[in-house]
Order: sequence, then structure tokens, then C-alpha cells
Amino acid sequence: MARKVYVDQEECIGCGACVDSCPDVFRLTEDNVAEAYNPEGASEEEIQEAIDSCPTECIHWEDEE
Ligand code: SF4
Repeated sequence: MARKVYVDQEECIGCGACVDSCPDVFRLTEDNVAEAYNPEGASEEEIQEAIDSCPTECIHWEDEE
């Protein structure tokens, strides 16, 4: 089962750490919160590093059917 990354935007403070870490996966929206605009844009390992660097721990994996 594949995993897909997403950002809980209620918790995001727009610090940009995930964008710095994986710019091909995350970007900041006009509301200055992150979104995973391209969840397949990096390896799971690289995405996990972004998850670990998030100060509010608001990036999560969700299982895909
Ligand atoms: S690292 Fe976390 S708090 Fe910072 S912009 Fe990304 S999702 Fe938001």
C-alpha cells in the first residue's frame, strides 16, 4: 500500500522548512501555509526528513487504498 504525504494546514505556521527540504513536493500557498502540491516529487526518505524538520509536526502520511 502506497503512502501519500499531506499537510495539516490548521497546524502549519508557514515556516518554510518543508519547502527548503523538498521544494519539488511542498510549496507555500497565498495564505502562507504549506501544501503537498506534488506528493510524488521526492523519495519517501527525503519526505520523511521534511516531516522530521517540521516544528509543529503537521506533515503526515496517509495510507492510500
Ligand atoms: S515545515 Fe511544517 S510548519 Fe513549516 S511550512 Fe512546512 S508544514 Fe508548515
